Amino acid sequence: MPASSMVWEVSNILPLGLPPAPKEEKMIDLWGNDHDHVKHSIELLQKYEPPEGYYLAFSGGKDSIVCYDLCKKAGVKFDAHYMRAMEPPELVYFIRKHYPEVQRHLPKKTMWQLIVYNGIPPMRGGLSYCCREMKEFGGIGRLVVVGVRKQESLKRKSYQEYDVKKVKKNQIKIMIAPILNWTTDQVWQYIKHNKLSYPILYDQGYKRVGCILCPNSGSKTMQLDAIKHPKIADAYKRACVRAWDKKINPDWPTGEAMYEWWISGKSMGKDDGQGELEW
Ligand code: SF4
Repeated sequence: MPASSMVWEVSNILPLGLPPAPKEEKMIDLWGNDHDHVKHSIELLQKYEPPEGYYLAFSGGKDSIVCYDLCKKAGVKFDAHYMRAMEPPELVYFIRKHYPEVQRHLPKKTMWQLIVYNGIPPMRGGLSYCCREMKEFGGIGRLVVVGVRKQESLKRKSYQEYDVKKVKKNQIKIMIAPILNWTTDQVWQYIKHNKLSYPILYDQGYKRVGCILCPNSGSKTMQLDAIKHPKIADAYKRACVRAWDKKINPDWPTGEAMYEWWISGKSMGKDDGQGELEW
């Protein structure tokens, strides 16, 4: 073949100028999902790692299981803490079995004392004083890793990955939320992909795990909890009776009526379905 003909052929195959930069290959798993969000979360944890290590707020739920694993994968120093409130036995056993190194803390006041003190059982959202008193007191003065996600509520949509929150008068908490922008599907894909254990309650229909009769779990879940845990439900009722005796809230004829209203879900605002069972 003549040389001139060869030059013509090559110039038609290669484009003029520099060849385009090769595209960075995405890691795609069996389900066709890329893992950029995982990479981002790991880099975030590595970027802000404090010399003393992170304080990981651990609840045993799916989001904190993922945060725990991300801290391990990021190779950052951390200690995990679990605040015991009114969690169901399935969750308590799960944490004890799979996360024995997590430090357990007990609140200063019990749920019953808080109900009597406030004159009313805890309401959902900002009125759930119990979380403030029983779960959010840890990690002051540390950089706290939390498993909150924007998808969970309207309020959380405004959160930042690195955020400062006022907890009490003159007390602030600095938090880092590595999975803030993850979807629920991404959380479950991560758990399955990494073969992480999770509480059996999710397989029983619970979308989130927390305290027995948690007002944030929705009325259907509360009513199921009352059937599953009659002794605890009775203790809530007795606390309502004692709270009603203080006559702070005269809106109900008796303390029992206040309890029945509380678990009925009436006047609790629009239910966003968070925590409801998947029937
Ligand atoms: S009952 Fe719900 S809102 Fe209250 S401490 Fe437990 S998880 Fe938090």
